[in-house]
Amino acid sequence: MPLTLGKFSLGVGDRFAHQARAQLQACALAAKEGADVTPVWNKSYREHMIIGSTPESARQAASAAVRQLGWTAAYHVDADHINLKTVDGFLDSCDFYTIDVADAIGEAGGAEPAEAFVKRHPELAGSLSIPGIGEPFQTTSESVAAIARKYLPAVGQAGEIYRRIENAKGAGNFISEVSMDETDSPQTPAELLVILAAIADEKIPIQTIAPKFTGRFNKGVDYVGDIAQFEKEFQDDLAVVAHAVERYGLPANLKLSVHSGSDKFSIYPPIRRALARSGAGVHLKTAGTTWLEELIGLAEAGGDGLALAKEVYEEAYAHREELCAPYAAVIDIDPARLPPIETVRGWTPDQYVNTLRHDRACPDFNPHVRQLLHVGYKVAAKMGDRYLAMLQTCEEPIARNVTHNLLERHIRPLFPM
Ligand SMILES: [Zn+2]
Repeated sequence: MPLTLGKFSLGVGDRFAHQARAQLQACALAAKEGADVTPVWNKSYREHMIIGSTPESARQAASAAVRQLGWTAAYHVDADHINLKTVDGFLDSCDFYTIDVADAIGEAGGAEPAEAFVKRHPELAGSLSIPGIGEPFQTTSESVAAIARKYLPAVGQAGEIYRRIENAKGAGNFISEVSMDETDSPQTPAELLVILAAIADEKIPIQTIAPKFTGRFNKGVDYVGDIAQFEKEFQDDLAVVAHAVERYGLPANLKLSVHSGSDKFSIYPPIRRALARSGAGVHLKTAGTTWLEELIGLAEAGGDGLALAKEVYEEAYAHREELCAPYAAVIDIDPARLPPIETVRGWTPDQYVNTLRHDRACPDFNPHVRQLLHVGYKVAAKMGDRYLAMLQTCEEPIARNVTHNLLERHIRPLFPM
């Protein structure tokens, strides 16, 4: 029996490896109410570099939490957004691989592989009726060839990375996902079908696929875009996935993975409706939302905790340009809406918490501050042991906020319970 990802799974990020237990607690409380949500601890190479951690330490933090809470259901550790250059360091410690090939989309792959693909897949050209999609897709061999030219190099690269992992770990001993989300333009449902056919040709037994959806998935804040259009495309994507499983023999549990999925509160109801209608599962990836709860817990603690949380803001504010640059495509910060340092210095715990906590109904909530602090974890990483020691001192309010955020703002609104 190959290692199989559960129907509903939650990617959690634990940047400083102190919140695994509080995160798992959210899944444990959900399980008590009958919702089986599999936790997946994800951390990318970039995060490990910035924090100075290793994949092995992420595995250890997860295992410790599992032991402490007596968690007996499945859990996984995800090598997040790996590529051929970075995969090797994750081979021992991870059992989930997010194979990121977004950079290879649109790479010149030559006309021949695309022509061969079109010949191999005559079923993709013409009028395609897919159960669950109202209007059939209208395609031609030329349009299929154009999609194939755009995506085949990326899928080929995914195959190469997959086989590298398979050689090291053995087939069936790990879960694989292919991610194409970190790119400029979203993939349409018709493109997704071609991509899945190509992935099946490459014999990658993917269990999750992360397309780029329509709209903006900014870090740590709500979805920005046309919600009705998102809902339609999400439903169509679910239908395409189900069809591809049948038609191309992909794993039966293949599901969509929603990256930068934390805090996208306005699309949770449409996603939840679509899942209920189709019976499909989903992987929701959240990461930085937990780090922001650490800051909220520190601020709530007052005293030295609040002072450190303010210091993080001060440093992030002072270095906002360099901190934001690598994330330009996934944040929208208006610098004029960032309170000056002198103002923040005078804040009470409540003022800090209300500004940062993602409560859209709260008049003090400031998405600009939230996004800046989201990308500001480098500041805390630089504080090193001073930051980590404060996490321990303020453990109670932090853990409470981490658990509450995942359970009440993410698991409960999104997963059927
Ligand atoms: Zn991603």
